[in-house]
Amino acid sequence: MWGGPVRKGIATAVLSLVAVTACTTPAGAPGGSAHGATRPRSDITSVPATSTSSPTSSVAATDVPAESSTSSVVVLDPGHNGGNSGAPGQINRPVPAGGFTKPCNTVGAETSAGYPEHAFTFNVALRVQDLLRAGGVTVVMTRPDDFGVGPCVNERAETANQAGAALAVSIHADGASPDVRGFHVIEPALAPDGGNAAILDASAKAASDLLTAFSTATGEPLATYPGALVRSGLTRRDDLAGLNLARVPAVFIECVNMRNPEDGATAADPDWRQRAAEGIAGGVLTYLASR
Ligand code: ZN
Repeated sequence: MWGGPVRKGIATAVLSLVAVTACTTPAGAPGGSAHGATRPRSDITSVPATSTSSPTSSVAATDVPAESSTSSVVVLDPGHNGGNSGAPGQINRPVPAGGFTKPCNTVGAETSAGYPEHAFTFNVALRVQDLLRAGGVTVVMTRPDDFGVGPCVNERAETANQAGAALAVSIHADGASPDVRGFHVIEPALAPDGGNAAILDASAKAASDLLTAFSTATGEPLATYPGALVRSGLTRRDDLAGLNLARVPAVFIECVNMRNPEDGATAADPDWRQRAAEGIAGGVLTYLASR
């Protein structure tokens, strides 16, 4: 159960207790949550240095044009990756997560019909990328395709930091109990090592903008099942490396609960994924316009 900030001293112990919980395994809270407040410190995945996938540094270097210093750069981080399930040794290795360690990455959730989270998040991210680029935003993706391994969660955060992003959006879909549904946005709490203090207020603003735009675009209900709810559809966490290690404003969105039958069918519908992308892009653009 997510009872509040996990302090450094107990973070390791908490990690050791929950690390066996997979992304698709409901945690202890009502309804459970793969990315929810009670889920393991093993949320996202990443590319080990030895991977044949493009290193995040080269992705950023390739995708950021020279004029990026004067335009808004947004980093899109599609959760997990298609090659993760075949590389447990690489994705299970511990990496820094902001005062503790967690696995480099995880396999992710999937619907009851077998539609995997990594494919969903990558497809939605591509759609968001198109929409943002059409709006004049420079987009950097943390992974270039959906068949690699990783990158590690700390490397994904570093991609956003190195890009000097105006905002980093990590796109996920939850793997909670089948009887709950809805989307939620996750904003950062102060990391156990305190390193993300400077980005908390801006990230909260971005989370609010994202929540409003996504709800409007998709009609998806605001999730009430996660254990760290600030309000319906919004949680605040200090156990996600992508938020703890961010030095630029950063948020996560869990677009649906993939294990819920209605939400699972929703995720598999390309027309709905386009609306989801429109909601995410709309929230990003609202945030950028407010800066
Ligand atoms: Zn995920």
